[in-house]
Amino acid sequence: MDVKRLDEGLSVTAQIRPEDVPALAAAGFRSIIVNRPDGEGADQPSFAEIAAAAEASGLEARYLPVTPGKVRDEDAAGFAAAMAALPKPALAFCRTGTRSTTLWALSEAGRRPLPEILATARAAGYDMSGIARRVLAGGKVSTAGAVASHDVVIVGGGSAGIAVASSLLARRPDLDIAIIEPADIHYYQPGWTLVGAGVFDPLVTRRDMARVLPRGVHWIKAAVAAFEPEENAVLLEGCRPVTYRQLVVCPGLKLDWNGIAGLAETLGQNGVTSNYRYDLAPYTWQLVQELKGGTALFTQPPMPIKCAGAPQKAMYLSCDHWRRSGRLKDIDVGFHTAGAVLFGVPDYVPALMEYVERYGIALNFGETLVSVDGPGRLARFRRATADGGTEIVARGFDMLHAVPPQTAPDFVRVSPLADAAGWVAADPASLRHPKYANVLTLGDAAGTANAKTAAAARKQAPVVAQNVLVGLGLARGDAVYDGYGSCPLTVEKGRIVLAEFGYGGKLAPSFPTWLIDGTRPTRAAWWLKERILPPMYWQGMLKGREWMARPEITG
Ligand code: FAD
Repeated sequence: MDVKRLDEGLSVTAQIRPEDVPALAAAGFRSIIVNRPDGEGADQPSFAEIAAAAEASGLEARYLPVTPGKVRDEDAAGFAAAMAALPKPALAFCRTGTRSTTLWALSEAGRRPLPEILATARAAGYDMSGIARRVLAGGKVSTAGAVASHDVVIVGGGSAGIAVASSLLARRPDLDIAIIEPADIHYYQPGWTLVGAGVFDPLVTRRDMARVLPRGVHWIKAAVAAFEPEENAVLLEGCRPVTYRQLVVCPGLKLDWNGIAGLAETLGQNGVTSNYRYDLAPYTWQLVQELKGGTALFTQPPMPIKCAGAPQKAMYLSCDHWRRSGRLKDIDVGFHTAGAVLFGVPDYVPALMEYVERYGIALNFGETLVSVDGPGRLARFRRATADGGTEIVARGFDMLHAVPPQTAPDFVRVSPLADAAGWVAADPASLRHPKYANVLTLGDAAGTANAKTAAAARKQAPVVAQNVLVGLGLARGDAVYDGYGSCPLTVEKGRIVLAEFGYGGKLAPSFPTWLIDGTRPTRAAWWLKERILPPMYWQGMLKGREWMARPEITG
C-alpha cells in the first residue's frame, strides 16, 4: 500500500485488500471510505469484504462509489458529510486514489485556498488542476460562461505587463487587449534601493494603476486564480472565466515573508527592515541615520530572487553613509548570504570586493536566515557544517536588513503552466510556453535563466509583443530574447558598478567602455540610475517606446 496523507483527517491510496486492513488499524486509521464501485475490476474485493475486515479490526467503513470521470456534486457533498461523521483519521481509496482525492478537493473548496488544495494533492501524486474551475466554484460544476473574451489577455499589470501591452499597441493600435490586475497602485521597485538610502522620496516610485495602464486596454480589476490552457481560459477569483487567443503571463513573484519565522511580525520595528517593501524602504533610511554603533546584518536568501544585487546594494549604501558620517568604525557589518559567491557573474566581483574591504564587511557564505526574534534582537541562520550536516547559529543585531525567500506565485506554481521549479515554463528565446504555443511569459514569473529585473522585462516586452502578433497571424518572424538583465550595484552614493549580462553570464554592456566600464564603479552609471532610468521607465518602457530594446527578428 502506498498511503498518501492529504491532511490530518484523511489519507488516500489505490485499491486495498481485506488483508491490508489490520496494518491500517495498526497505523492508527479509524475508518475506511470506499470510492470504487463494486465489480469495476475483475479481481477487486467487494465492499462487503472490506467492511467485514474493517469491523474485525475495529474500523468503520463507508461505501461512496463514484464512476471514473463522473464525480457529481452530490458525490462531493456525500463525501463531505461522511468525513464530518466518521472517526478520524480516515483512509479513502478507489482504483488509483484519484477519485478519492477529487472528492477531498471538492469537499475542501471554500475552506482552503485553491493553490493549497492543488499543491497538497500534487504533493500526494495527484494532479487536480483539471478541477480548478469546480473548486473555485465552491466544489460545484460551474456553468458560468466567459465574463470576457479578448484577443490578448495579460495577467499582471506590473513592469512587464504594462510594457508588453504598450509594445503591442505601438505595433497595432487597434488590438483587443485586456490586462487582469487587482492592484490600484503600480510601483517602480528599482527605486526602492534609493529610497532606503534617502536619495528618492518614496512617492516618486508609485503611481495610480489607472494612470499607467495604456489607453485602449481593457482593465479587468481582479486577480487570476487558475489557468485552463486547454480551454484558452483563465479563471478569476470567484470562478469567472476570461478567454483569450493569446495569453501573456507576468504576475511577478511571491515574496515569502512568512518563510522566515518571526520576520513578518517584527518588520518595521526593532531595527528590522527590508527595501523589498515600499512601506519599509523609508525605515531602512531611518535606521541607517539612527545607528551610531553596534552590529548591522544584511541577508540574502537562496536564488532566484528579483534583482539579485539589491540585498548588497542596501548594505553598500548604508556603509557609505556610516563612513561619511565617521561611524563605520563603530559598526560591525555582516553580509549573510545563502549563496556561495558574492555575485553570480564573476567579472563584477573584484570591484565589489574592493568595497567589501573598504567598508570592513564580514562575508558569510552559505548562511540562510531562518528566524528573527525582533524584541530580543537575535537572528538565527542555518549553515552547512564540514561533515555535510547543518547547524543553527544565532547572531545579535542592532539593525537587520532582511530579504525574504522568493518563489513563483502560488496560483502559478500549481498550474499546468508551471515548470519543475514552479515558474512559468518558457522557451528561453521566444518566451513561448513549450506546450501551449499561445501562452507567453516574461518578467519575474518566467522560468527563464535571466536575472529577474525590470531591465530584463524592458528587453523581453518587445520580444513577447512581436511573438504574440506572430501567433495572431498579424506579423511574421519570431523575435528573440538573449537573456539580457541588468543590476546597477550602488557601491557608494555617486558610484555604481553597472552589471549587464545575458544568458550564461555573458557580459552585455549597453555603452562603450570609455563611457561606462560596467566592471568598475562609475559616476556615469550612478547618474544613469538616478536621473535617466526613472524617466526611461515611466516614459519609455511603460509607453511602448522601445529605447535600446528593439528586438532581433528571425526569419
Ligand atoms: P511586478 O512589477 O512585481 O508586477 C507584478 C504584477 O502582477 C503586480 O502589479 C501584481 O499586482 C500583479 N499580480 C499579482 N498576482 C496577480 C494575480 N493573481 N492576477 C493578476 N495580477 C496579479 N530591477 C532592475 O531592473 N533594476 C534594479 O535596480 C532593480 N532593483 C530592485 C530593487 C528592489 C528592492 C526590488 C524589490 C526590485 C528591484 N528590481 C530591479 C526588480 C524589478 O522591480 C522587477 O524585476 C520587476 O518589477 C518585475 O516586473 P514584473 O512585471 O514581472 O513584476
